[in-house]
Amino acid sequence: MDAEGFKEFGTEMMNFITEYLEGIRERKVLSSVKPGYLRELIPTEVPEEGEKWQDVMKDLERVIMPGVSHWQHPQFHAYLAAANSYPSIVADMLCGAIACTGFSWITSPACTELEIVMMDWLGKLLELPSKFLSCESNGVGGGVIQGAASEATFVALLAARAQAIRRIKSETGLDDGYIIGKLVAYTSDQSHTSVEKAGRLGGVKMRLLPTDEHLQVTLEVLMNAITEDKSKGLFPFYAVATSGTTNTCAFDDLEVFGDICRQENLWLHVDAAYAGAAFACEEFRYLMKGIDKAHSFNFNPHKWMLTNFDCSAMWVDNAKELEQTFEIDAIYLRHHAQGQVPDYRNWQIPFGRRFRSLKLWFVLRIYGKKAIQEHIRTHIALAHEFEQLLLKDGRFEIVAPVLMGLVCFRLKNRSNEENETLLKTVVERGKIYVVPTKVHGKYAIRFAICSKFTASVDMAIGFQEFSAAASDLFGKM
Ligand code: PLP
Repeated sequence: MDAEGFKEFGTEMMNFITEYLEGIRERKVLSSVKPGYLRELIPTEVPEEGEKWQDVMKDLERVIMPGVSHWQHPQFHAYLAAANSYPSIVADMLCGAIACTGFSWITSPACTELEIVMMDWLGKLLELPSKFLSCESNGVGGGVIQGAASEATFVALLAARAQAIRRIKSETGLDDGYIIGKLVAYTSDQSHTSVEKAGRLGGVKMRLLPTDEHLQVTLEVLMNAITEDKSKGLFPFYAVATSGTTNTCAFDDLEVFGDICRQENLWLHVDAAYAGAAFACEEFRYLMKGIDKAHSFNFNPHKWMLTNFDCSAMWVDNAKELEQTFEIDAIYLRHHAQGQVPDYRNWQIPFGRRFRSLKLWFVLRIYGKKAIQEHIRTHIALAHEFEQLLLKDGRFEIVAPVLMGLVCFRLKNRSNEENETLLKTVVERGKIYVVPTKVHGKYAIRFAICSKFTASVDMAIGFQEFSAAASDLFGKM
């Protein structure tokens, strides 16, 4: 394809994207294709001769769109938000054009330097403690863009593990293999599955601690678990607290986690994958009280901050811990500025990395602080609006406090099976999409505000779906 062809193809694609997003409300939110649907729609081999881009464009509606569940649809209320925006899409185009592999500063200084500054911008927007900002900690702490929150949790675990091995080895003379076998980490039974997975991949025990009626791990539970494990000869080394759980958007008490982790010499990582974006608004920052005691913090602009996947923002208070864990020297990697600036390959698992900070730069500049705050506040207000509709109806109960853009509810005085039938009926009708959770053993429906196109009218539509289905299934009650 030559430059002229690219311009034509690009223009056509821009038109397609705009029509897709602006007309998304007209589409069916959830794909209804059967597994294997796609293989039958395209040839079995690479074409011998190249095809025209127009033929590829034609196949988008025929092959791809039937198998797309529309996460940006205003009535997509499953899981949690997955962000996008026009500035972010454009930035990803430029990232594709530059196509550098920014594993070290020398490979494209702008790739590293924009990331350092954007992570400082973002950290300031959230009012993170200065120890996490490169500009305020003299480069001791700082931020890095990971691919996903799961990666950030795992990166922190690996760094904490390396730190613990060094410390215990110097104190006891025990060998690495023995120490690894005795390492133990802690999180709540409400954490995302990626936390348990990080423990499994890191070859360490990850205890999922029981939570109280507020879905939080209490001081006693955490302290007792650590004391018990120490008495068994285990080495507690790492804890993950969640700010905004996937199940119900519950917040761990970071003061509780922070104090114990400091006292017991554990690395504290805070997973705020979804809700961290809300700390851009001062009225929600009370939920991150105690963050100054954490060693690392992560949230996903690709969830709730208008930035396309992948963009997961992670900060550490001591970047040396990452570098000591991930740095491997090779002659072809050395450069004259080494040591003066981060080489981000030493802050992550993969070697190569995309120029992801372009997305943040475009989004943060083109929206600005006010519009970002408004986006967050609008979603939270919509969640409260939906909550009120449910409460006014009288048949539903709210099973977890509505703090962010997520409402967890169920039919009052109805069994888990009946609530499951309600959810299935609503999803089968195909107007909206939601997924369930369990809260204290009770089946509940999660209604998340996900799309930037979601508006007040969608709260009424969502409520109507549940109200009508409940009446059809169980009568007016
Ligand atoms: N942590 C929490 C609290 C989440 O809600 C999620 C996803 O919803 C994740 C981690 C995983 O995020 P990622 O896909 O960025 O790994």
